[in-house]
Amino acid sequence: MTAKEWLEKAKNEKWAIGAFNVGNLETLKAIVQAAANKKSPIIIESSSGETEWMGADNIVSLARNFSQDFGIPILVNLDHAENLEECEIGILAGYDLIHFDGSKLPLDLNLAILKQVVEKAHAKGLTVEGEMDHIQGSSEVHEGSAEEEASKGKFTNPEAAKKFVENSGIDIFASFFGNVHGVFSGRDENLDIDILDQIVAQIPLTYLSLHGGSGIPDDQVQQAIQRGVVKVNVNTEIRQAFKDSLEKVLAEHPEEYAMYKIEKPLLEAVQKIVEHKIEVFGSSGKV
Ligand SMILES: [Zn+2]
Repeated sequence: MTAKEWLEKAKNEKWAIGAFNVGNLETLKAIVQAAANKKSPIIIESSSGETEWMGADNIVSLARNFSQDFGIPILVNLDHAENLEECEIGILAGYDLIHFDGSKLPLDLNLAILKQVVEKAHAKGLTVEGEMDHIQGSSEVHEGSAEEEASKGKFTNPEAAKKFVENSGIDIFASFFGNVHGVFSGRDENLDIDILDQIVAQIPLTYLSLHGGSGIPDDQVQQAIQRGVVKVNVNTEIRQAFKDSLEKVLAEHPEEYAMYKIEKPLLEAVQKIVEHKIEVFGSSGKV
């Protein structure tokens, strides 16, 4: 099934596909194991830094190999690419979904580049995600309030979203309605479901993504999925699980030098996070 077919199935059945960032082989392996255990389709994705570190070709090849080995569908998403060149690399490498994030650019320029991305990606049957309102935060662990961070940005205007989708021809719209990237110590991340409802009413045929899936209370994520979100991006909680358990295992086993032995608990920690997300998103058992 193509990315679009999976998104359509998720939309009709009111569940969401998790899009999990991979910055190394170990994280990828843990995500795939979690998806296999839960019999869930997944999206793995790479940000600019992660793509550069791993290599776009490597990410796609690893995803295809793991998909075959584990018998689960693995879609590959280019996450927050900030220019046309990056998108072209993703398209050429065989990514299934391309997210061009022009939200820091003037709207005209964002649309001009997005249209080119749509043309090139659609010619190969790929799915394109666009972003109009910059989603605040970054995929790290932050001190302070998520609500305060969200308030630094401008929540999506539903009418403007409609125009943006019509003008660009995108398949997925990255909406901003209280979701922020990262985990905040204030634990006060709050989604504005009213705005989400208005966005859905304006662009009922467009797939909606929810970025910053780390740190949002599970019940709010589920509410957003019931209202129409079909793709939830998760990065920080994975990074956090990986790093915390790395520190722990290194401290506990200073005598161990075989990395694959050291890394086993790390994979288990990441796997646990992903399995939980899959349950929350309702994609368990959909394969
Ligand atoms: Zn994001």
